[in-house]
Amino acid sequence: EERAALATWTGAGRTADGHPVKLLANVADAASATAAAAAPVAGVGLFRTELCFLDREAEPDVEEQAAIYADVLAPFAAEDRYVVVRTLDAGSDKPVAFATHPDEDNPALGVRGLRLSFTDPGLLERQLAAIAAAATRTGAETWVMAPMVATVDEARDFAAAVRAHGLRAGVMVEVPSAALLADRMLAEVDFLSIGTNDLTQYTMAADRMCTDLAHLTDAWQPAVLQLVAMTGQAGERVGKPVGVCGEAAADPLLACVLVGLGITSLSMASAAVRPVGARLAGVTLEQCREMANAALAAADPSAARDAARAVLADRP
Ligand code: PEP
Ligand code: MG
Repeated sequence: EERAALATWTGAGRTADGHPVKLLANVADAASATAAAAAPVAGVGLFRTELCFLDREAEPDVEEQAAIYADVLAPFAAEDRYVVVRTLDAGSDKPVAFATHPDEDNPALGVRGLRLSFTDPGLLERQLAAIAAAATRTGAETWVMAPMVATVDEARDFAAAVRAHGLRAGVMVEVPSAALLADRMLAEVDFLSIGTNDLTQYTMAADRMCTDLAHLTDAWQPAVLQLVAMTGQAGERVGKPVGVCGEAAADPLLACVLVGLGITSLSMASAAVRPVGARLAGVTLEQCREMANAALAAADPSAARDAARAVLADRP
């Protein structure tokens, strides 16, 4: 049945009853962006800019950064597509020589992501100038979001900095505090994007790299789904986009649950777009909502998966 759905999928991001869901790609560089542009996606939901600089000792100047970003934006310079650029998420699992604070006892809880701008505002300002230059040069619709946002003040300050360059501003929901205050975050920004990898890590207090804790670092954990639900519902109330750009979006069954929780876009590795799109095309929004409610009520991740599957099994 799954194979049949894949074969007949039209490439449109919507449920069987026509509820639209934007399917987006996660990219890291020009090569992955070019590959993604050939996939049936509405754009890029996560451009991880820090991955461009893992081998760099020194910060590239604004012009060099602009050239790097333009190569990623250019394949998406079409009227109906857009690219969400994430500002540097340096630190912890992604050390960038010129932006990582060394000798932290708890790097995952340290000065990483947007927090780098507290002590080094110039780093963010130069990156925003480069992103804006690349957007102008390519004509690609460009949104910008910050990783590791924990407070409403951070969201407000970041949005002001981004809008000063004429771009749409959003923040990632990766820290439970951001999900708990999703309404107030949304009052400050144009969109939210949930990073389920880190949101799971910080909700469950379990290192995402620790294989012994894989049962905890599972986005099907009901506590994680509850935070996604709060965020999705906040977005529905004000009519602003709330996406998911963590690994969770690439799981076809979980993707249905996320849509049922109010998520409006799913960003994933290009290879996952077809299986996810085909799966969504075979379920109604009502079924997605039933799957979401069933998963939320489950005791643990494996029961949540079973409960979501059961909704589809007894469809008429
Ligand atoms: C996430 O945390 O889910 C996310 C998308 O960001 P990254 O995996 O790059 O930390
Ligand atoms: Mg993250």
